[in-house]
Amino acid sequence: MATALNDFMQEVKTKNPGEAEFHQAVEEVVETLLPVLDKHPEYRKARIMERMVEPERVIMFRVPWMADNGEVRVNRGYRIEFSSAIGPYKGGLRFHPSVTLSILKFLGFEQIFKNSLTTLPMGGGKGGSDFDPKFKSKNEIMRFCQSFMSELFRHIGPNTDVPAGDIGVGGQEIGYMFGQYKKLRNSFDGVLTGKGLSWGGSLIRPEATGFGVVYFANEMLATKGQSFEGKTVTISGFGNVAWGAATKVNQLGGKVVTLSGPDGYIHDPDGISGEKIEYMLELRASNQDIVEPYAEQFGVEFVPNKHPWEVKCDIALPCATQNELNEEDAKNLIANGCLCISEGANMPTTPEAAKLILESDILYGPAKAANAGGVAVSGLEMTQNSIRMNWSREEVDNHLHRIMKNIHQSCLVAADTYGTSGNYVAGANIAGFTKVADAMLAQGVV
Ligand code: GLU
Repeated sequence: MATALNDFMQEVKTKNPGEAEFHQAVEEVVETLLPVLDKHPEYRKARIMERMVEPERVIMFRVPWMADNGEVRVNRGYRIEFSSAIGPYKGGLRFHPSVTLSILKFLGFEQIFKNSLTTLPMGGGKGGSDFDPKFKSKNEIMRFCQSFMSELFRHIGPNTDVPAGDIGVGGQEIGYMFGQYKKLRNSFDGVLTGKGLSWGGSLIRPEATGFGVVYFANEMLATKGQSFEGKTVTISGFGNVAWGAATKVNQLGGKVVTLSGPDGYIHDPDGISGEKIEYMLELRASNQDIVEPYAEQFGVEFVPNKHPWEVKCDIALPCATQNELNEEDAKNLIANGCLCISEGANMPTTPEAAKLILESDILYGPAKAANAGGVAVSGLEMTQNSIRMNWSREEVDNHLHRIMKNIHQSCLVAADTYGTSGNYVAGANIAGFTKVADAMLAQGVV
């Protein structure tokens, strides 16, 4: 088994040199799929895994734009169209200086399985740019988004590829990109999700990823007769996902005590609720990408350059970015008696940390399953656009809740079937994979 994995990974590494994050994401999936491949020789024969790790198409392009001071700037734009086996490519756009081909390939690869888990017909994709929105003016952001879409528009469409937001891309950026797409195509299409409510957006989409993370955690806790009531919760990040998660934790009776940014974390033992949650939106809109102002605003402790995982908690929700929870953090969480980890960010846990967590008693919901609520409501936005209707807040939230419960159940069943009961990482990978693999088999070698 180990040799099969090593051989496979050797080939992936040779073909995709220097793409550490992509290798990490592939290895984590493939090691849990070996029992499935053993049981289904037809997948091996059709080279399903080898085909899945090769994106159907990678688009890279120049994004020139003009700064307010008249200087010309150049960024690189990307769209990774990874898999269209079960639906149009679907996945967010990330604008952040850390964006590379490797980061977007890891995200696009994970998106295939995540989207499959939602039960909705969406393939996997991801895109973005190394553009840094920090300290940029609104006009600069608009010009960048317009330039980005001036190339991207020819590759996307409501039945081809439907991008959305991710880190650095929220309602404002989706608006600027939608405006440019509409102008170039002369067509009002449901080509992006995360749109504003008056122009085709869905209620609950901004909250969806965070709500889903908490719904998923709640399902895991219920298997042990537990709930959020009275629990202490640590959250990392302070953006859209952290905001949605903090809101839902409060609704379910839990207490959120931390938030974090690239500068460190804040610790608010009284709990982050009410106006403090609304303040998160201001922090984000300030475009400074730091969390410290929260500590000044509400007179709480700010711990620079550290992760919040050293704070004792019952439930931890990593909602910031990839590899933000390392081996030492995992040891702290285990030693402090953490019950449950539900991942809001994509691949926030390093492989070493994940191994320790899986060996412990902690209920561990991996991102592909736990944060699928965001893209699930994107799928519901696509449905509403197709039928030219808008659903109520309650309707969308009910769909989201049902989808998260289904995902939880599919993970449990898949893990059970392949002898890894209670392992949500294996369960999510297996359940997400089989649906896509069967579609690929049915569609022949294309
Ligand atoms: N960026 C989100 C994710 O990682 C949402 C993608 C979407 O809505 O298409 O799943």
